[in-house]
Amino acid sequence: GSRLAGVEMAPPDPILGVSEAFKASKDPNKLNLGVGAYRTEELQPLVLEVVKKAEQKMLAAGYNKEYLPIEGLDAFRQATVQLLLGSDSAAVKEGRVAVLQALSGTGSLRVGAAFIARFMKGTTVYISNPTWGNHRNIFGDEGVEWKYYRYFDPDTVGLDFKGMVEDLTAAPDGSIVLLHGCAHNPTGVDPTPQQWQEIADLCKAKGHMPFFDVAYQGFATGDLDKDAFAPRLFVDNGLEVMVAQSYSKNLGLYGERVGALNVVLSDADAAKSVLSQLKRLARAIWSNPPTHGARIAAEVVGDADMFELWKSEMAGMAGRIAKVRGELQAALESRCPDRDWSFITKQIGMFSFTGMTPQQVDNMTNKHAVFMTRDGRISLAGLSSSKVAYLADAIVDSVR
Ligand code: PMP
Repeated sequence: GSRLAGVEMAPPDPILGVSEAFKASKDPNKLNLGVGAYRTEELQPLVLEVVKKAEQKMLAAGYNKEYLPIEGLDAFRQATVQLLLGSDSAAVKEGRVAVLQALSGTGSLRVGAAFIARFMKGTTVYISNPTWGNHRNIFGDEGVEWKYYRYFDPDTVGLDFKGMVEDLTAAPDGSIVLLHGCAHNPTGVDPTPQQWQEIADLCKAKGHMPFFDVAYQGFATGDLDKDAFAPRLFVDNGLEVMVAQSYSKNLGLYGERVGALNVVLSDADAAKSVLSQLKRLARAIWSNPPTHGARIAAEVVGDADMFELWKSEMAGMAGRIAKVRGELQAALESRCPDRDWSFITKQIGMFSFTGMTPQQVDNMTNKHAVFMTRDGRISLAGLSSSKVAYLADAIVDSVR
């Protein structure tokens, strides 16, 4: 027998496992609302026009496939930190940000977790309850202890701000607090600007280090600057922060693995040392990051026309999602007027957190071939106007 015969089957991934089940389904009405990937009204994946333009330009320039430096493509690193903090950021000008190009949001979080494991040993990372399921894997697999803070209140289908503040106040001083920069996944519920300020004040008073996960910049409101409000506010308040960025959603570069880990510090020397250690960590994981997607992002940001085109395409994606949100809410209100469905348009970003129980989700999938995660989250990026009525019927059948 095999030496590894004792290795047990790992459970399917709660999100990507849904895509596998969707592919296997033969139901002609099947709908995949599991993974957070943008679809057109025809429910097809979208390659942005601006990405095609950048790729044509890159092909014409005849770039080679040499290794990038360990820290990544310079033009990309400059572009990404400016998108995050703004083009006149003092932290950037003063050289206080360590920027490492990394393998999209996941790789950026992971190398951040590796940094915490090595240099902030014994520090607990507080993550929201609920959160994107991979956060637990990322910190757990690096041996970093994590705990939940309260975040979502099912009664109001809104933020449990009081619970959040209580838990972060009770956490030991100097903890790390994982925050979603905007468009919280899976709830679609974000703090208000006033609440963000209170969280920043709390972090400052407790010496907590915020670790922002920015996976949806530009995708929440359609505006890059508005969606960067929270991390910019914290940096403006003098906090040292870590930020993982992803270009999977906003540039549609899912499979290209484009992202960065930014560590904003209070002095430039610390930023230099931190970058050197991030490079040391990355060298032993992926050695140097992929070239293609980083060049696309750098070309797009570096060219005024392409940058404008990107912004309009991003607003188009965000707008289509907002439109189906409104249509779904109206369809549910007309079928089931005794319930409050307003949460659907109040929630922000790709997802709606419906409050459906695992049993109700099973009914959605088994009876209606609507594939979604068992926490009751649906990706509105996978819904088209023409499928709204079908989905509303399935939801009403499942929650009644
Ligand atoms: N964080 C959150 C909250 C996400 O939703 C995602 C994508 N689903 C990511 C990070 C990272 O995705 P990627 O590795 O594709 O950038």
